[in-house]
Amino acid sequence: MPQSNHPAPSTRTRVKRSADNARYDTQTLHDILDAAYVCHVAFADDKGTHCIPTACWREGGHLYIHGSNGGRLCKQLLSGIQACVTITHIDGLVLARAAFNHSMNYRSAMIYGVFEAVTIASEKRYAMENFMEKIAVGRQADVRPGNDKEYAATTVLRISLDEAVCKTRTGGPNDDAEDLHLPTWAGVLPLGVQKLPAIAVDENQAATPRYVSTWA
Ligand SMILES: Cc1cc2nc3c(=O)[nH]c(=O)nc-3n(C[C@H](O)[C@H](O)[C@H](O)COP(=O)(O)OP(=O)(O)OC[C@H]3O[C@@H](n4cnc5c(N)ncnc54)[C@H](O)[C@@H]3O)c2cc1C
Repeated sequence: MPQSNHPAPSTRTRVKRSADNARYDTQTLHDILDAAYVCHVAFADDKGTHCIPTACWREGGHLYIHGSNGGRLCKQLLSGIQACVTITHIDGLVLARAAFNHSMNYRSAMIYGVFEAVTIASEKRYAMENFMEKIAVGRQADVRPGNDKEYAATTVLRISLDEAVCKTRTGGPNDDAEDLHLPTWAGVLPLGVQKLPAIAVDENQAATPRYVSTWA
């Protein structure tokens, strides 16, 4: 979807550099978030600026994360400070004929806002169960569910996707016209995340569930 069809949701989410690569539509954002297991959460406190990688999942119009009640991530994010969340998928290395025209193909997203805690018990439980289902559809029904003590020690947070922007790059190199004759290989070295065969623990006594047998 061309960016012109979807305006940036705010001044700070309006892409200026390589603006043709900007995507502001919801579908692109959801696809990028749903393909991610990890996000990076940036925020500043009195010790400086931090950027913390952490597991994530999406439900509707929010991105969710969780952590220990005592951890800095949860404590700081619940103090009302501004956060910026990024997610990046690298799809390829783009080799141009000129060194300075090399690039990368990617899908990335940035989300700005303030995290809020999911405090209603039923919503917190639902969110954590969704997290388990994100890891493997059907997993929640197979595991010992979280108990009250585990839930009490865990903070679940979410950030609205209202102020978010995506940037994506696809295709080959953009060489300058005067470099096109150079005898240098040009093209793309594709990269991707690969699912590999599952590795069971030695003492495994359970039958192999379908989400494991079909993993790779
Ligand atoms: C895998 C990968 C490799 C990259 N390598 C380089 C590199 O080597 N050098 C380099 O300069 N840039 C690189 N970029 C692009 C980089 O992410 C920035 O887009 C670029 O540096 C311009 O940043 P800016 O703040 O000046 O842009 P501006 O256009 O001024 O940014 C305006 C707004 O656009 C949004 N925005 C900017 N970048 C992104 C993004 N990537 N994803 C989602 N929203 C965004 C933000 O909301 C930002 O506030 C890379 C991106 C990816 C994903």
